[in-house]
Amino acid sequence: MHLSQEISQDLLQKYDRPGPRYTSYPTAPVWKTDFTAEDYKSALERSNLTVPVKPLSLYFHLPFCDTLCYFCGCSTIISRDKGKTADYIDVLGEEIASLGRRIPRSRKVVQLHFGGGTPSNLTPAQNKLLFSRINRWFDVDYANGEISIEIDPRHASDEYLETIREIGVNRISMGVQDFDPLVQKAVNRIQPIDLTERVYRKCRDLGFHSINIDLIYGLPLQTVKGFEHTLDEIVRLSPDRLAIFNYAHVPWLKKHMVLIKEADLPRPEVKFELMALIGEKLTGAGYVYIGMDHFAKPDDELTLAQKAKTLYRNFQGYTTKAEADLIGMGVTSISMVGDVYAQNLKSLPDYQNQVQNGKLPIHRGYRLSKDDLIRRSVITRIMCDLELDRNGVLNPYGEVFDRYFSEELKELEEFAADGLLEISPGRIVLTPLGRVFMRNIAMVFDTYLRSAPKGPLFSRTL
Ligand code: SF4
Repeated sequence: MHLSQEISQDLLQKYDRPGPRYTSYPTAPVWKTDFTAEDYKSALERSNLTVPVKPLSLYFHLPFCDTLCYFCGCSTIISRDKGKTADYIDVLGEEIASLGRRIPRSRKVVQLHFGGGTPSNLTPAQNKLLFSRINRWFDVDYANGEISIEIDPRHASDEYLETIREIGVNRISMGVQDFDPLVQKAVNRIQPIDLTERVYRKCRDLGFHSINIDLIYGLPLQTVKGFEHTLDEIVRLSPDRLAIFNYAHVPWLKKHMVLIKEADLPRPEVKFELMALIGEKLTGAGYVYIGMDHFAKPDDELTLAQKAKTLYRNFQGYTTKAEADLIGMGVTSISMVGDVYAQNLKSLPDYQNQVQNGKLPIHRGYRLSKDDLIRRSVITRIMCDLELDRNGVLNPYGEVFDRYFSEELKELEEFAADGLLEISPGRIVLTPLGRVFMRNIAMVFDTYLRSAPKGPLFSRTL
């Protein structure tokens, strides 16, 4: 991904506007609260009958963190009370059993992911207990599956890492964000480079198959020089994958973000420079640009899937397991089963009550129409392939792209005139500049944005 550092202020202003990140389509604000646990059960039953048998991807949300990082956009609960974590794991065990009774063991688990919050806050014994509950109800493919945990190097002892490796975890995702001490202070996350490196080396020694590192650009007090140093250090560590997220400043959604001074945030032109730097440094170091914020080594499964056009996108970012149903467990977690999205309750007491009363703790959801499925597939291909095959993309739906999207095609001409797209009779290809504004291009196909309520819903695209 090579970007000219030259971009006019007009163009920056034109495209730097609020927009979704499209981990789902339609996006969560469109989902309905009259979607019930019964609707979700029906979706599971339909999916259980699919031939050939659909594999599973399980996600577990572990929400507890010791301290609050001011940039955090996750669903997190700040607590150092380990008793709360123990109670939570018990309730999670009940939810695992409840879903395990509804899903046959013949549906193999090819992907298991623990996110948060801080999953590495669990003690080794709590991890063993959680895995034994999962294994009791689901058949996890430990030999070939992706078993991954997000860890916070500030809370990842050697004993913890040894335990999770022993019980089958084979991938690690590590939060770093930025090594600059001033930035770390401004976001309330002090994590010295030595500590990160020690944990990283330990993970390598333990033989985890893949290590991902998360960074964030657009944080307060971040400078191009400071972030260049962070990138140099990361390249030296040489993780298999990198997710470099654009900080989404959304204090109207995440109240604690008011703790970040807006005056300290880098201006759009600095963010653009940071983005150009990221692309140049990482591709220069041999990484391949996958799409929205993600880079991987050339032999990584994500890179190979992108080449084969089998990459997919879901709530966890990019994935190679397009064929699997995603079953989320834990407070706020999200599932994607066939043509349905379902989200668990967001309040911990509500979630616990529902599960303990033997109910599926569904808060809201959505069943996609044919038009939704078509638009989801186009947006997914844009974000995964960085191009669209006009002749083939709508074949599975019995539609013709140019006819179905005649209005959208007219809108895309303006993107082409601005240098974001190359449009030919067979294909629409994102240019390096178009990759920066990928969300804007996807937004053209989002029918709900046209009727979205006024007022801020999404973060800015730059
Ligand atoms: S550790 Fe992660 S989940 Fe917890 S507050 Fe920080 S960024 Fe959020």
